[in-house]
Amino acid sequence: HPSKFPNNKTSIFSVMSSMARENNAIDLSQGFPNFETDARLKELVYKAMKDGYNQYPPMNGIPELREQISAKIEKLYGVKYKVDSEITMTSGATQALFSAITAFVRPGDEVIVFKPAYDSYEPAIKLNDGKPILVQLKGSNFSIDWQEVKEKINDRTKMVIINTPHNPTGSVMSKEDMQQLEGLLKNTNIILLSDEVYEHIIFDNIEHQSASRFPYLAERAIVCSSFGKTFHNTGWKMGYCVAPEELMKEIWKVHELVTFCVNHPMQRAFAEHLKNPKNYLSLSSFYQEKRDKFLKLMEGTKFTAIPSKGTYYQLFDFSEITDEKDTDFANRLTQEHKVASIPVSEFNIDKKDNQQLRFCFAKTNETLEKAAEILNRI
Ligand code: PMP
Ligand code: GLN
Repeated sequence: HPSKFPNNKTSIFSVMSSMARENNAIDLSQGFPNFETDARLKELVYKAMKDGYNQYPPMNGIPELREQISAKIEKLYGVKYKVDSEITMTSGATQALFSAITAFVRPGDEVIVFKPAYDSYEPAIKLNDGKPILVQLKGSNFSIDWQEVKEKINDRTKMVIINTPHNPTGSVMSKEDMQQLEGLLKNTNIILLSDEVYEHIIFDNIEHQSASRFPYLAERAIVCSSFGKTFHNTGWKMGYCVAPEELMKEIWKVHELVTFCVNHPMQRAFAEHLKNPKNYLSLSSFYQEKRDKFLKLMEGTKFTAIPSKGTYYQLFDFSEITDEKDTDFANRLTQEHKVASIPVSEFNIDKKDNQQLRFCFAKTNETLEKAAEILNRI
């Protein structure tokens, strides 16, 4: 059969993770922790299984968990999402993003995407015959040129996708950014898809500016989050999205077809675990310590850091070391030096001359030390 999706490549995360395994390299590429999720959380999953929660849960998730999510958002961002109609459990944020894009993007619709961007947005837009409209983030702060965004908005604009804290750059959107966006979207029909999977990983006392905090954004926003990122269990593939009822109804039509509902015993466990806010509020300081440790370990190297303000990724510019393209250098670093990373151009189809690598620091101190020791010798 001719491919329906001929230009879609294997995700760079699969490519680099398998290259790391084949070369026995320290894997700082794909974003996942190499330490364990909370033992109590695992016990709670097992308990739920023993207690017989082994059949389909409701399509949008169990009410006990949706209640906890609603309470968490209200406490942190001061807005109340309706438990029954505005919160949906998904198989990771990936499925929430795909379902949201598929529910709304029709052939010819334009979707504004900021580059570099997480690698699942564009293929999902294209699979729905939509058109990604790319806006490059500017300067070493990766800031958004709102005038450029304004110029790119027109009658065909269906959706804007934002991601804060941002993968891969570790930049965060400020209150002023959100207000600029509000000004552009107010009084339009444009949907905002806000990828906030790193909402609980933000540094230096910066406050996360969730789209749900801004009334003219919240009224049109689908906000996605990921328990995998927050609770060190990316392999469980648990996430959720929240949105106003009218939008959520449309997302359900896709969600029901993609998976119908998600893992029941894990939902029981998370409903318990979320009762203690410490379980997620301690995350920023935990990762800030790791970021600082990693930056310190890398101080003497020829890699130049662009300090991360959130997420568990750190970008380094390597132009002092070589003229190689980032993909070539990332391959060589994995194969010859045994440290795997992600070349940033893979997030960034516009700019192939990139000389930046993304390193994931969600790793034990021992792993970070070993990696830095190698990178210090380059
Ligand atoms: N969005 C961003 C920005 C990500 O980095 C990731 C990767 N984890 C996802 C979405 C997907 O999240 P999940 O693993 O919950 O599907
Ligand atoms: N979000 C993770 C990253 O950026 C990877 C997720 C995936 O493998 N699709 O590394």
